[in-house]
Amino acid sequence: MIAIDGPAGTGKSAVSRALARKLGARFLDTGAMYRMVTLAVLRAGIDPADAEAVTDCASAARLTVGYSPEASSFHLGGEDVSAEIRGDDVTGAVSAVSAVPAVRELLVDQQRALAEGAGSIVVEGRDIGTAVFPDAPVKIFLTASAETRARRRNDQNIAAGLANDYGAVLADVRRRDHLDSTRAASPLRAASDAIVVDTSDMTEAEVVARLQELVTQRSGALR
Ligand code: C5P
Repeated sequence: MIAIDGPAGTGKSAVSRALARKLGARFLDTGAMYRMVTLAVLRAGIDPADAEAVTDCASAARLTVGYSPEASSFHLGGEDVSAEIRGDDVTGAVSAVSAVPAVRELLVDQQRALAEGAGSIVVEGRDIGTAVFPDAPVKIFLTASAETRARRRNDQNIAAGLANDYGAVLADVRRRDHLDSTRAASPLRAASDAIVVDTSDMTEAEVVARLQELVTQRSGALR
């Protein structure tokens, strides 16, 4: 079990996926699960700030999560929503939905069940090392400056044909950081025994190599 946490824009998803591939491990993207519930909430016309209605919607939502680091697939009630959960509407509302304690309880239970018996698995999120799997033998917390993260996100947007708007992206990065790190339920923070890796001046390949090294060291130490 390798737990990888950190804020948006640290390259966490790409790096976690690449690490899982190199290790022949499975991959669980927990952010996608919060995004699926958020999509269900928005589709039902529920106000993301209405905790009770959001919780009911989360309990009724049927989430199916694929583990492959090659092609992760996310189904909501049987429908493939892999692309839709990355849209701006979902991104704008997901912090409010993920701040609802009952939603977190529900998804954490599902995450534990999904990881059970899965063999080697890389689990990526915000609270994996602190709350979901506090006993994970390898915990990594990725960081990078808000400016670096906004620049990366903006570059991705440009590559995807979206608007080039560094200022708006930086504001959104700061907004989500603030919401995720100040919420009462499982705020974003590094576990006391996590290894913190600052990716500001590293390429994706360098980060993956560094994590592989850390995993090898840790498994050697545990043997
Ligand atoms: O990683 P990603 O950007 O897809 O996550 C979307 C949102 O889901 C985060 O901004 C955060 O609010 C929430 N999240 C969370 N706990 C996790 C994973 C994601 O609260 N383990």
